[in-house]
Amino acid sequence: MRTSIQGPLRYIQEAGILRQAGPLIAQVGGRALVLLTRGSMARVGATLEQTMVQAGCACLFEPFSGDVTYPEIDRVAAAAREKECDLLVGIGGGRVLDTARAAADQLGRRLVIIPTTASSDAPCSAVAVIHDENGRAVEIRGVRRNPDLVLVDTEIVANAPAHNLTAGIGDALATYFEARAYARKEQAASGTSSTRTAVAMSRLCYELIVQHGSEAMEAVRAHRVTDALELTVHAAIYLSGYGFENGNVAAAHAVNEGFSVIPRCSKILHGILVGFGVLVQMELEQAPEEERRQLRQFMRSVGLPVTLRELGLDDLTEEELRAISEAACSVPPMRNMPMAVTADMVYQAIRRADSF
Ligand SMILES: [Zn+2]
Repeated sequence: MRTSIQGPLRYIQEAGILRQAGPLIAQVGGRALVLLTRGSMARVGATLEQTMVQAGCACLFEPFSGDVTYPEIDRVAAAAREKECDLLVGIGGGRVLDTARAAADQLGRRLVIIPTTASSDAPCSAVAVIHDENGRAVEIRGVRRNPDLVLVDTEIVANAPAHNLTAGIGDALATYFEARAYARKEQAASGTSSTRTAVAMSRLCYELIVQHGSEAMEAVRAHRVTDALELTVHAAIYLSGYGFENGNVAAAHAVNEGFSVIPRCSKILHGILVGFGVLVQMELEQAPEEERRQLRQFMRSVGLPVTLRELGLDDLTEEELRAISEAACSVPPMRNMPMAVTADMVYQAIRRADSF
């Protein structure tokens, strides 16, 4: 049995940490290409530049052009090479972070990730989702290294729109159930599991979000940093990232990928669809009714949709639902389930999940 564990070299989360980020970033490199959107530049550019320059780290801003595409990754990598940067910093949402991640990997440079929302568990990972020019995911690229440093400023996260945290909670909610499903598959195949550490971390992730998630939502709506927010953000970004990367994803993420065959679903945040995917996975696993009931109740308390209607997808045709189920069945995460899953099983599970 091989046990393989990976994660960011260093993870630091604190309210106001961005103002003190310079010395931490300077430990990673001396000359940084900082990738960010115009909006992030206006909000945090000056703060970041000041602390980095004070710490003796050159801060060379590079505006992000809008999506994680092959040309954009090449462009950012070329800029970092031309400016002789030994380090890339991505600050912003998932697309900025993934572009910085892929460009740093291309050049073999160090990487600092600073998420400005807690909308998914991607920041700590070694995975970049690359899109085509129409915004469709075309490659899930595993890069060689996890970030050297992940900095999460909960003051910034608390000031991001609340629906980002709802999505982050949805993504994090899946982690335990998916790691558990994969561990069960391993257990059935070989009598043991290589992912017990990840399952334990995912379990903690689940406990923290269930215990503190709804209070965290109140905090983020009021733009306040509270203990509940700190714990929920830690679960959604760090524990969930550790959990999925070392414990695997399964049906909940496969269902999310299935929805991507319907173009209008691309407007729905990843974690929102993954949250619904958890309910579908519960149906596939025939989880105890009590577990499903608690899950639904919790999801409602944080504003996660639990039906197709709440997802704004009650107009999906029978044909589209069949296409979603087919697609969900054809992607690798579905093969991490402990049982063989057919498209018809997924279709029935979506119908049952939706019927409550
Ligand atoms: Zn996810």
